[in-house]
Amino acid sequence: MKAITVEPMKSGSARFEDVPEPDPREGSVLVEALAVGVCGTDVEIAEGKYGWSPPGATRLVLGHESLGRVVDPGPSGGLRKGDLVVGIVRRPDPVPCPNCAVGEWDMCRNGQYTERGIKQIHGFMSERWRIEPEYAIKLDPSLGLLGVLLEPTTVIAKALEQVAMIGRRSFWEPRTVLVTGAGPIGLLAALAARTYGLEVHVLDRVESGPKPDLVRALGATYHSGSVKEIGFEPDAIVECTGVGQVIADSIQAIGASGIVCLTGVGHGGTVTAAACADVAASAVLKNNVIVGSVNANKRHWYKAGNLLARADRTWLRRLITRCVKPEDFGQALERKPEDIKVVIQFSEA
Ligand code: BGC
Repeated sequence: MKAITVEPMKSGSARFEDVPEPDPREGSVLVEALAVGVCGTDVEIAEGKYGWSPPGATRLVLGHESLGRVVDPGPSGGLRKGDLVVGIVRRPDPVPCPNCAVGEWDMCRNGQYTERGIKQIHGFMSERWRIEPEYAIKLDPSLGLLGVLLEPTTVIAKALEQVAMIGRRSFWEPRTVLVTGAGPIGLLAALAARTYGLEVHVLDRVESGPKPDLVRALGATYHSGSVKEIGFEPDAIVECTGVGQVIADSIQAIGASGIVCLTGVGHGGTVTAAACADVAASAVLKNNVIVGSVNANKRHWYKAGNLLARADRTWLRRLITRCVKPEDFGQALERKPEDIKVVIQFSEA
């Protein structure tokens, strides 16, 4: 079968090539790939900046935002041939640490977790893949291709859960949420926050294209420019850019008792000890919490599935701005300013 593979830490090594059929040790459920979403992490792996191949192998099958159709459910009672499924990305560390031991592998304490298509386990950018039944999430069949948005939605399911849990430390009735970045994660954050009835503001660099309209269609407010200019102090900020300046501005703009949840993974920039002390002083005086959040355990996958199943299909469809064939994977790994979610489509959903 064909797969998109890379040699981790080697820039420009991505290839669409023949690989062996999936190893039965990867799971008893055999799945035909329908589509795989591409995100910044995939681009970083293809650029040789991130990623680990499986032990003993030099290459890694890329892809962690999956969507597939069950070909053979194996002995699993819960799945049937033809079911639409998405694969959970992370696996617990083998020790296991206390968090992995209780199924909170998203909170792994020793860093020995593994991740499909990212860290030491092959991903989903292959014509067929296998999965353990307990790591296959069955989708509402009416989602079709939109099921490929499940993995990015888990990022938001966890981030908002973190904010809500931290909010319980005191009397806190949040009204306003600022989402920084109107990429797929930011737009899904806005969707989720609107379903909780919050006043949602989304900030991005662009002034035209589909993003402003997608935000307004949710009944949220779109801002372009700097966080400093939004004109109010949000109760919560979901940071989805990973850009140093946006993060710094968010930490300053957050209201008293507010929570900043960081979901973006950026690089670079400098922090001086003085700036760090100022951030800390402001956080102390305003009782702020700055929390990082990486997805996701099974509860978040379940919540994300419910959120997508209830969401407006026409709105969700507009998030997928480009579908490319697997052999054109190079185009999918190029970031264009007008892209929201780019998908590699292996077969009709
Ligand atoms: C994925 C997560 C993963 C993280 C770090 C993200 O792009 O969505 O599942 O935990 O990268 O590897």
